[in-house]
Amino acid sequence: MDQKTNQPWQAKQSADLYGIERWGNDYFGLSDAGHVTAKTLNTEVALVDIVKGMVDRDLQMPVLLRVENILDAQIQRLSEAFSSAIATASYTQSYRGVYPIKVNQQAQVVEEIADFGKRYHHGLEVGSKPEMIIALSSLEPGRLIICNGYKDEEFIELGLQAIKLGFECFFVIETPSELPIIIERSRALNIRPMIGIRIKMISQVSGHWNSTSGDRSIFGLTATQLIDVVDSLRQEEMLDCLQLMHCHLGSQIPSLEDIRNGVIEASRYYVDLVREGAALTHIDFGGGLAVDYSGIQSEDNHSRNYSLEEYCETLVGTLKQTLDNESVAHPVIVTESGRAVVAYASVLLFNILDTTTFESSGKSLAQADENPLLAKLRNISTHLTTDNIEQSYEQVHLYRNQIRDGFKAGQVDLRCRASAENIFLDVLHNIADALDTMDQIPESMAGLKLSLADIYYGNFSLFQSLPDIWAIDQLFPIMPIHRLDEEPTRQAVIADITCDCDGKIDNFIGLTEPEKTLPLHPLKVGEEYYLGVFLVGAYQETLGDLHNLFGDTNVVSVRLNRDGSFDFVKEMIGDTIADVLSYVEYEPKQLELSYRNTAERAVQQGRISVAERQQMIKAFRASMQGYTYYEREN
Ligand SMILES: *Cc1c(COP(=O)(O)O)cnc(C)c1O
Repeated sequence: MDQKTNQPWQAKQSADLYGIERWGNDYFGLSDAGHVTAKTLNTEVALVDIVKGMVDRDLQMPVLLRVENILDAQIQRLSEAFSSAIATASYTQSYRGVYPIKVNQQAQVVEEIADFGKRYHHGLEVGSKPEMIIALSSLEPGRLIICNGYKDEEFIELGLQAIKLGFECFFVIETPSELPIIIERSRALNIRPMIGIRIKMISQVSGHWNSTSGDRSIFGLTATQLIDVVDSLRQEEMLDCLQLMHCHLGSQIPSLEDIRNGVIEASRYYVDLVREGAALTHIDFGGGLAVDYSGIQSEDNHSRNYSLEEYCETLVGTLKQTLDNESVAHPVIVTESGRAVVAYASVLLFNILDTTTFESSGKSLAQADENPLLAKLRNISTHLTTDNIEQSYEQVHLYRNQIRDGFKAGQVDLRCRASAENIFLDVLHNIADALDTMDQIPESMAGLKLSLADIYYGNFSLFQSLPDIWAIDQLFPIMPIHRLDEEPTRQAVIADITCDCDGKIDNFIGLTEPEKTLPLHPLKVGEEYYLGVFLVGAYQETLGDLHNLFGDTNVVSVRLNRDGSFDFVKEMIGDTIADVLSYVEYEPKQLELSYRNTAERAVQQGRISVAERQQMIKAFRASMQGYTYYEREN
């Protein structure tokens, strides 16, 4: 029931409440049955059905779900949006996307991008030797590889050999000191290098990652350094090798105006480098294409005020205008979109283990000889109006604290104190209800709703699976994946399983700005309650850590079929307890031996039988091979 209208609650109301159409990018929807669905190929699959498939396969929660079709669809949308912007602007060169491996290095993800991306000539961007090795072994010759980051001799040799094999492999010079190594190695191996140059942009962008731009950016060459590099290359008769200009304004840039300003500045650099004699053929605009996590289409850090199409049109149109004015030929446009390509495809799924509510247990009926403070507390509710609400709020704390002080001094007994705490909570809930009817919440009561919110304990580790929530207060859409045809009547914050006070989520996307609590359903006895954290495909998986020794979660990749069915295409079993213990230098075999010895001594002392010892050792071993998270016995 909808408590306000007394009409049955509709799934559509849940869709509005959680904003699924605002952030779902047409990849997630809600069925009439109240289930969140993943959508591609004109079909929909309920996530609870996928969860059921996991349970049947004994894949325990938490699970990171990857929907491969969504990854494919994002690459397709990106490439097609650029093609269409290029056609509209009559731009004469093509678009080449490269995927920056650092955004999600997992083999399943990179392999899928390499494989599906083939039809769009999608390449890879690498920033280290391990990533270079990934690129060289997942792509076929002909594809584009952009090498950023500090490069030593070994890195450069790998890249030069890649050119010999037929890859389009660019070294982007980030600091002047890289140039002599590139020149020396390419001479030694007798291979002409393909050189890119990273410019330091002055254009400042808003958003969390804005420090990659501006004077103090740690990346890129200043105007004077650019001139030095050009002069050195000319001197070495290698200016024809300088074929790519690179710039990167930052990640998750929320404002299209900032992007346009960046492109204008970059285009000027491009024109002048061409005038200097560089044989430029490619311009690389880096990353920055944002994801609308909060779904509010604004300049907020967790959002963006533009569509994918507008982004592409801005890059292509702005560049073309500058070049045409200066009669400079159009280069191939490269972008390194990472976040926007992979964010949508992953969902973290977990079950709720328990809840704590902050409500009176109801045991506070008036007694004949009770402490008079209790009657005073009750009275506050009776006389509560929106006019005296602030005063009532003060009073309820005053009387409650007097009871607590009395308890400390031995004048109030435990039963009286419990009654007082109960009435106190009742009054606070009444005050909170009254606040809902007011246009403006008095400042002193801003934290009330949060202090009354339920705590839902989720079977996951924030530090392992959602590190950006902890590190940079990132917002992700979070919602139940079923029961959405029921009204969510509780307001909750979410605590993870680490028992760390930082392991909580109390910031959620809202209609216009973030909310401190999330509407959820009360738990039903004997039934699991599943939540999904959406859009978590970018930056979360390898940034996570082993806090409290909760390890990698199970990972399942599914592929949706046109007929509405789905296949489990890849699965990865999460860390076992033995795995995480060995990461911190314990030797699982040694641990078992030492436990065996302890049990053997207990046998010698007559505390347990040999049979009991064997049972214990069996349980110990099973535990070592088990999942680090809360396991349900099937
Ligand atoms: C991190 C990074 C990217 C990816 O940026 P997104 O905003 O995730 O698309 C691209 N290029 C470079 C050089 C980067 O450092």
